Amino acid sequence: MRDFRLRELCRRHGPRALAGTGVAMALLMGWKTGELFLGSHTPAKPAAAVESVAQAAKPMVAALEPVSLKVLRGETLAEAVQRAGVAPEEARRAVEALAEAMDTVNIKAGLAFEAIVRPGRNDAHAQLVSLSLQPSPAKALTVSRTFDGALTLKEMEEKILDDTVAANGDIEGSLYESATKLGATPAITAQVVKLFSHKLDFQRDIQPGDDFKLVFDRKVTESGKTVEVGELRYAELHGVKFYRFERGRGEAEYFDENGKNIKGFLLRTPVDGARITSKFGMRRHPVLGYTRAHQGIDFGAGAGTPILAAGDGVVVESGRKGGYGNWLRIRHSGGWDTGYGHISRYAKGVRKGMRVRQGEVVAYVGSTGLATGPHLHYEIFQRDKRVNPLSAKVPQGTVLAGRELKAFKAEKAHIDTLLAAADAPQAQALAQADTAKALR
Ligand SMILES: [Zn+2]
Repeated sequence: MRDFRLRELCRRHGPRALAGTGVAMALLMGWKTGELFLGSHTPAKPAAAVESVAQAAKPMVAALEPVSLKVLRGETLAEAVQRAGVAPEEARRAVEALAEAMDTVNIKAGLAFEAIVRPGRNDAHAQLVSLSLQPSPAKALTVSRTFDGALTLKEMEEKILDDTVAANGDIEGSLYESATKLGATPAITAQVVKLFSHKLDFQRDIQPGDDFKLVFDRKVTESGKTVEVGELRYAELHGVKFYRFERGRGEAEYFDENGKNIKGFLLRTPVDGARITSKFGMRRHPVLGYTRAHQGIDFGAGAGTPILAAGDGVVVESGRKGGYGNWLRIRHSGGWDTGYGHISRYAKGVRKGMRVRQGEVVAYVGSTGLATGPHLHYEIFQRDKRVNPLSAKVPQGTVLAGRELKAFKAEKAHIDTLLAAADAPQAQALAQADTAKALR
């Protein structure tokens, strides 16, 4: 809170009482002097005089505990404030004061606020002493009663800064959980999973204890609260590294440390977190019971797991197709197609002629057609002939050269510096531990 820039709004809400009466009331109500005399409209001299009186009176006054409340679903802010025990009219005035600095109409359920109230005698409503809330991470608002009984608003705002974070961690549980611990949002993690699905088999290659690194942009308040997470600049997992780099037309892609596009032409695993349960070649068909060629590979995954387009392309077949059940075929460039069988349902808008991007969700795993259980049957076609997806000579991604490579290397050097700085505290701690050991 120390970093907040204080701004007091001096418009008054409610009756303007006589100053003398206000001071008497203040003493009765036991307000903290600091709260009482904030603001430029209060003359300095009387304030100091009253302060000493107030301090002398302090022991007689019991402190008031703040009450923490949350706006409930379907409730207005004023209704929520009333639950602190204050009268409807007073709640309305407090909200009116807040409205100068925030949208008090479109309030999200769950918005937390703190109220300090002075309990009313007998059946009377409680009186609001102050009301504090944070409508956004960088903004804190407090409505408090001044010495003359009016309500004033104090607005404290932090500057929001652009920042790039380098974070290290190791896999404990899922990548998702571990990345969240490093401050990554679900959107960033989804991006990481998508990136690595080009290179790694999550089931086989990623183990608990594997360390990983992330560098991402964020907007942060001066006191270090993340307001918004931006681009993923770098990710490293299982020794595989990706650097984000913007090519000419402003479209960002990810490259390895040598400037080679990480994007293979086709994804290795078109289903997140799935493993291969049946390979390409001759086998005894689990439903038909006789031996015949398995024309693709099977990925075991729960029903409803998203299926990703293996590469950029156009949908050329979508619909029922014999033993495949619900089937989808995508045409990529260079005479390559991919096919997806036993689909439970298609993603919204997926139909023949639709353009798809690599990694886009196109359908969901199911067990339609001849299938013993939910899985994805995946095929790759090279000039209309089915080939083994595990050994197909699928084209590699592009490699940066010339001016682009130079710019990429500059970006990479910047990220590497951030990573080294993030590593430094650990290195220091290790060095200290070593020294401690040597001294013993
Ligand atoms: Zn199959």
